[in-house]
Amino acid sequence: MSWKITLFVPDFTENDLQAVCKPIQDAWLTMGSKTQEFETRFAEIIKAKHTFAVSNGTSALQLGLAALDIKPGDEVLVPSLTFVACANSIIAQGAKPVFVDVADESDWTISPEDIRRKITPKTKAIMLVHYAGFPCRMDEIKNIANEYNLRIIEDSAHAVVTSLNGQYCGTMGDVGAFSFFSNKNITTGEGGMVSTNDDTLAERIRRMRSHGMTTLTLDRHKGRAISYDVVETGYNVRIDEIRSCLGLSQLERLDTILQKRRAIYKHYVEKLRDVDELTIPFLDHDHHTVGIHIFPILLHATLNRNEFITCMKEKGIQTSIHYPPIHQFSAYRKILDREAACPLTESIAEHEVTLPFYPSMKDEDVNLVCTSIKECLAMMK
Ligand SMILES: *Cc1c(COP(=O)(O)O)cnc(C)c1O
Repeated sequence: MSWKITLFVPDFTENDLQAVCKPIQDAWLTMGSKTQEFETRFAEIIKAKHTFAVSNGTSALQLGLAALDIKPGDEVLVPSLTFVACANSIIAQGAKPVFVDVADESDWTISPEDIRRKITPKTKAIMLVHYAGFPCRMDEIKNIANEYNLRIIEDSAHAVVTSLNGQYCGTMGDVGAFSFFSNKNITTGEGGMVSTNDDTLAERIRRMRSHGMTTLTLDRHKGRAISYDVVETGYNVRIDEIRSCLGLSQLERLDTILQKRRAIYKHYVEKLRDVDELTIPFLDHDHHTVGIHIFPILLHATLNRNEFITCMKEKGIQTSIHYPPIHQFSAYRKILDREAACPLTESIAEHEVTLPFYPSMKDEDVNLVCTSIKECLAMMK
């Protein structure tokens, strides 16, 4: 398939290229000073007390859940309109995901009302997702969490860097989890970050990232430690220096990346907001504080989405779907012991289309996507 415009184009610079060579020249490949620098820089940007770079976003979620002591028998509330990694990471802890609907037609983040409805005596935590980078209704969610003594884990894979009333996504709950997968706002190929402002959780995350060991190779290399103990079991979800260097290099131009994303978002909105056959979610949200990750639209319910996607494909425009609801996947149908009851999620997921969106997108690219949309919609009438 030769696309005119693909869903995503990674954006690398000469600086990125130089950066990834450095660890090879220095002959220190994992968990070294560059990883520490990457963590420190990221912490400064999102104003987090502690950050830990890890192997990917999924392991960030899993480490967060483990540090919060989520275990078999526990229930974790999670949206169904998200990437399957969210629910999978809960299952990996032996706990049970309980699916929660989205807030409304234009705010596709987790619904505080539905959270209340789905709390049981077994509920231990809420894993929320800042969909497309737009922040969840944190005030309401935090009130509920306080009332029922629930922990909050923020999946901020889409929300590098989003703030809400001066606080950054990944620092408003107990633990934040970020992904630096190839198509995310900052990429290291595979990679992720865990954030927390809680010193006790931070200690557990630090240890559990590397087998539960009390000291690291770097400490021993620097002569700061001779041996180690294992005080609780853990994982190996470490990152390496090559990827940390790439992350650091990207963070240097984070402002440019975010500005470009916001400008492309604004351009799309101007072109599409008056198109009758579709709606754009999150329109009433101030996008200037959002690290926008994807551009989703909602086709009107009378239109056939497959027909639309096929028409766009014929015009050389790649689109995607975010997301098929998790509770409708075969594996989850088998294990669900009660109806998911997420009607709004189901209707949105049936009509959602994600448009091409990446920082190097030019005005004429956005124009071509929007013209193609209008032509397809006219043809479908
Ligand atoms: C990408 C993503 C993840 C998983 O991150 P990986 O780095 O691919 O493991 C988790 N949640 C959401 C919402 C994501 O978009």
